[in-house]
Amino acid sequence: MIIDLRSDTVTKPTPGMLDAMMSAEVGDDVYKEDPTVNALEERLADMFGKPKALFFPTGTMANQTALKLHTNPGDQVICDSNAHIYHYEGGGASFNSGISCKLLEGNRGMFTAEQVVEAINPPDFYHSPLTAMVEVENTANRGGGSCWDFQELKKIRQVCDDHNLGYHLDGARIWNALVAKPETARDYGQLFDTMSVCLSKGLGCPIGSVLIGDEAIMQNALRIRKILGGGMRQAGYLAAAGLYALDNHMDRLKEDHQKAKDIEKVLSGLDIIKNVEPVETNIIIFELTDKKNDTSFINNLAAKHVRLSNMGGGKLRIVTHLDYTDEMHDKFLSLLKSI
Ligand SMILES: *Cc1c(COP(=O)(O)O)cnc(C)c1O
Repeated sequence: MIIDLRSDTVTKPTPGMLDAMMSAEVGDDVYKEDPTVNALEERLADMFGKPKALFFPTGTMANQTALKLHTNPGDQVICDSNAHIYHYEGGGASFNSGISCKLLEGNRGMFTAEQVVEAINPPDFYHSPLTAMVEVENTANRGGGSCWDFQELKKIRQVCDDHNLGYHLDGARIWNALVAKPETARDYGQLFDTMSVCLSKGLGCPIGSVLIGDEAIMQNALRIRKILGGGMRQAGYLAAAGLYALDNHMDRLKEDHQKAKDIEKVLSGLDIIKNVEPVETNIIIFELTDKKNDTSFINNLAAKHVRLSNMGGGKLRIVTHLDYTDEMHDKFLSLLKSI
């Protein structure tokens, strides 16, 4: 039995999900004739209270499309220094859109409206890049699955309105925030111009993300997706997994959160651990007292068939998910206690 806690992307489709995929009704989505893709897009648009949604193979492509929709070459996007669009999208912001990132030093991946105001370049000062948009991540991945305070997100919306900036949410793990916090999908929909959501993280699909947004800004999304090579044909087999996950895998996310809390508690009591960042959802980031031991700590666990990831800079990461069973949880907790 391998206990793989590196990421919530390591899950495999359940038998129920595979059945739903196998029996999907499909068509050519490039002609917009795949009824299952259309149903998924309509469902998510409705869920977030937005007029448009578009299915993508990956969250990266959905985010990259959003950046392109909001900017012109030379422009700048304001985001956290830990943002996925900055760290983990292969430099796509510059490659695809010709834009730069203005990085804010936030707290666990989250910054304030005040920081945004300070980071905006005056539009008539033509020496500096034109600030075009603000991007936030909820939950924040490198922030340790942290959830934004909704009031702060609202304040940032106001700043965007005052300065004519686009506002994009990287909601790869918005499902975890929806389960952990009182705000609804429509609350988020009201705030952002565009939002990307991932089906292949906590929801357990093999593939798929969706970009959701307002009519005007989404008008060009289909063209950008095409240019990025993301036009898909009988993609309903994949969209069916998404529909299945929305019906069956949303509520159970609280089990992942509870398990993460249990792990936080045990880790916090260990001498060899210096610090565990506050756990709000399904991600646990922690540091060893002696950084030199990172590799041996990971290797020792690997020898006992437990995998976790090294984020660098002395930080280690554990992510709970659909395929991390109660049995694995008991085994992992007792293993930790025996260290
Ligand atoms: C996983 C993830 C994405 C999208 O990643 P893909 O692997 O391209 O689907 C985007 N943002 C965040 C915060 C993520 O964790």
